Amino acid sequence: MKSNWISHFRHGDAGMKALLGGKGANLAEMTRIGLPVPPGFTITTEACRSFYALNRLPDSLMDDARAALQAVELARGQQFGDAGDPLLVSVRSGSVHSMPGMMDTILNLGLNDDTVQGLAAVTGDERFAYDCYRRLIHMFGNVVFGVESDAFERILADVKAQCGAQEDQDVTADGFRELVQRYKQCLEATVGTPFPQDVHVQLQLAVEAVFRSWNNHRAQVYRKLHHIPDDEGTAVNIQSMVFGNRGADSGTGVLFTRHPSTGARVLFGEYLTDAQGEDVVAGTRTPQPIAKMEDDMPHLYEQLIQAAEQLERHYRDMQDIEFTVERGKLFILQTRAGKRTAQAAVAISVALVKEGLITVQEALLRTDVAQLEHLLHPSLAPDATLDVVASGLPASPGAASGRIVLDADEAERLAAAGERIILVRPETTPEDIHGVLAAEGVLTSRGGMTSHAAVVARSMGKPCVSGCEDVCFDFGQKLIVIGTQTFREGDLLSIDGTSGRVIAGSVPVVEADMSAEFLQLLEWADRERELRVYANADAPEDAAKARALGAEGIGLCRTEHMFMSTHRLQIVQDMILAETETERRKALAKLLPMQQDDFEGLFEAMDGLTVTIRLLDPPLHEFLPNLEELVVRQTQLTVQGAGTPEELRELERLIGKVRGLHESNPMLGQRGCRLGILFPEIYEMQVEALFLAASRMLRKGVRVQPDIMVPLVGHAAELRLLRDLIERTAERVLGPERRSCAYRVGTMIEVPRAALTAGQIAEHADFFSFGTNDLTQMTFGCSRDDAEGKFLTHYVDRRVLAANPFQVLDTTGVGQLIELAVKRGIAANPQLTTGICGEHGGDRDSILFCHEIGLDYVSCSTYRIPLARIAAAQAKL
Ligand code: ADP
Ligand code: MG
Ligand code: MG
Repeated sequence: MKSNWISHFRHGDAGMKALLGGKGANLAEMTRIGLPVPPGFTITTEACRSFYALNRLPDSLMDDARAALQAVELARGQQFGDAGDPLLVSVRSGSVHSMPGMMDTILNLGLNDDTVQGLAAVTGDERFAYDCYRRLIHMFGNVVFGVESDAFERILADVKAQCGAQEDQDVTADGFRELVQRYKQCLEATVGTPFPQDVHVQLQLAVEAVFRSWNNHRAQVYRKLHHIPDDEGTAVNIQSMVFGNRGADSGTGVLFTRHPSTGARVLFGEYLTDAQGEDVVAGTRTPQPIAKMEDDMPHLYEQLIQAAEQLERHYRDMQDIEFTVERGKLFILQTRAGKRTAQAAVAISVALVKEGLITVQEALLRTDVAQLEHLLHPSLAPDATLDVVASGLPASPGAASGRIVLDADEAERLAAAGERIILVRPETTPEDIHGVLAAEGVLTSRGGMTSHAAVVARSMGKPCVSGCEDVCFDFGQKLIVIGTQTFREGDLLSIDGTSGRVIAGSVPVVEADMSAEFLQLLEWADRERELRVYANADAPEDAAKARALGAEGIGLCRTEHMFMSTHRLQIVQDMILAETETERRKALAKLLPMQQDDFEGLFEAMDGLTVTIRLLDPPLHEFLPNLEELVVRQTQLTVQGAGTPEELRELERLIGKVRGLHESNPMLGQRGCRLGILFPEIYEMQVEALFLAASRMLRKGVRVQPDIMVPLVGHAAELRLLRDLIERTAERVLGPERRSCAYRVGTMIEVPRAALTAGQIAEHADFFSFGTNDLTQMTFGCSRDDAEGKFLTHYVDRRVLAANPFQVLDTTGVGQLIELAVKRGIAANPQLTTGICGEHGGDRDSILFCHEIGLDYVSCSTYRIPLARIAAAQAKL
């Protein structure tokens, strides 16, 4: 064959997936190892790509296909289109990456008004022949001409009623004959041309239709979801038919070699007697559990099990197998690695290692780490019936139910009183964080997968559905409207952050616990990896949870989260609104013991491990009330003459202060170390609290290892100044005890200038932690809040960018700055340790990059720790 367009099953093997598609390559492989596969050939993905380039089938493709068909005719001793004893074929889609059910397949091709009689004559079974023919017209009409399946289904129901048949198998030969007539009429009436009687025309139209099905809507959606390239194309497999619909000693089924939900080593599958493959998948009849086959056809069942075992050993993975029995003879029609839940994936990998089929390294490399997070969140009980009212983005996995609350303070109050809460907000801001903390889960109508609500929810392991635009708010009436349904505050609502579904009422959830196999896999990963894995955690309970999941330290404690509870926020506001330094110090003095208390809890939970504490980072106005709300209140009070002069003056002052702190670009404004330099007393208080906590814990015998982290440094002088402040405070608070407290001082590298001047900065730093969220914003020159859900989404949809750089580290841009900073930093200070604490610390591809450029650790949100441990091992392998 001159081109790369056609390959016989006899000639290919499993290694040729890119050219033959998964189905074709595996049909070839099974042929090669001697399994009973009906003969056939594959039209390659290359031909499909030519089809799309030319907008028609490439010249001579169908000639080549006809030539290839001759070999099949020879093997089967039949001829395509022969009215005496016709060869029938299936025309099956089969892409490189498995996309189950997304594209089209046609069975029984080669039947027409003449050959159907031949088939009836040679088999002596008219009923069977016309059953095949009506199936062909149905599938062909649907796939090639786009006739709705419903149209055929209605006729079928009609004919069944006429001849009093309950099931398809009860339909008589005459019934099928009539069906064929009426299907043909229906097809012609709908499309305007008759069902093609020329079998070669059938073949060509079918091949074209399967190529086209690569671009049908569901296939496109599936590809996007699974990051499968759009230009790969599908192969087409032309395979001689075997018939499961030839009576009681025939049948068809699907078999998984292990249980796809649990991974248990049991055969899992279904089968039907007297049926064709589509019947099982399409659910037109209720199949039997596979075990029933042992009673019906014990001999064949035995053969099937042997074939399944052979395939599993051969492919060294759990297989999903399609088979058909034709009059007592078994045929295997497809095998592929079976889709499985996260739980099953882990259980199967570990079992395969123990059975000696794969190595520990292979088990680790096979693990789909993105899926692992599902194992750690409570999830919807699998068999629950659900009243789904809307869908949003699956922003943080897990399921949660609770009473609707529209306000963070109220959520905190009710949760404290023991209620389970779902916080529902248009969006969440840092001010809502206590509400998020108090809630079981969060639902927002705005914001993307990495919106604030999503990030925070993930870091806390709270389920979150974001960007659910169907939710409309009426704060006055304290209700939300979703579609046509109205929900009041206090009504029960559920969210499934794994799928993005919003469900009325409450749903049963099942708690996750780590299976023995999962723990085993993690232990193997720990042996392989070089990167350490830290957690981003702000509260002692988070830290303890993180440690239980394997965190080897805290890489980021955001101290501002400690200021957010209603009670503390008031003091923080007093501190910000203070007119003089003395006043400010008074407020700070009140915060100090609280902050100290937080730190003590963290140190205790992380006994013996590093705790990286970042000094205050966000701009101060984030802690103040919203300006618009204040102005509205002022107007109300004035108009109604309700406020006392005292009250009005106070309000006036507040408004002035909030105006004064207003920034048109807060992301680039007065925040991070800039605050610490302008208001040293704030950082002094934090550092003092930290050292007091350290000292207290040291005396209790806790091994304390604080890393003090200065945010947003862009110039070495900033870090020099603040390091000085920290050292002085250490001296003042700890005195001689300083020597026994192994604290270090370092900085976040999150401003491009810091990366470029890392050598100078490293002279004042013991460690660098790459804050890749800000570094990405500043390197791309776009603010994340303005980009996500807006142009960035468009960019990713239109493939201007391959991925959202806030989710997957942009290694060619932002990554270069990191690499450069590591090199320059270490050259200037060989003791320097390096890590990453942005969202990317929990992303597999980003972790691979971190390993490659020699970082010491990645820090990620609690529930991503196991994922990061395995990704770090994959990076090494
Ligand atoms: P999908 O990818 O949607 O599973 P397939 O190409 O695998 O589509 O085919 C659909 C059904 O038809 C399967 O059950 C398959 O086993 C069956 N089938 C396909 N080709 C043949 C054939 N040559 N003989 C008998 N059954 C077939
Ligand atoms: Mg299939
Ligand atoms: Mg930052």
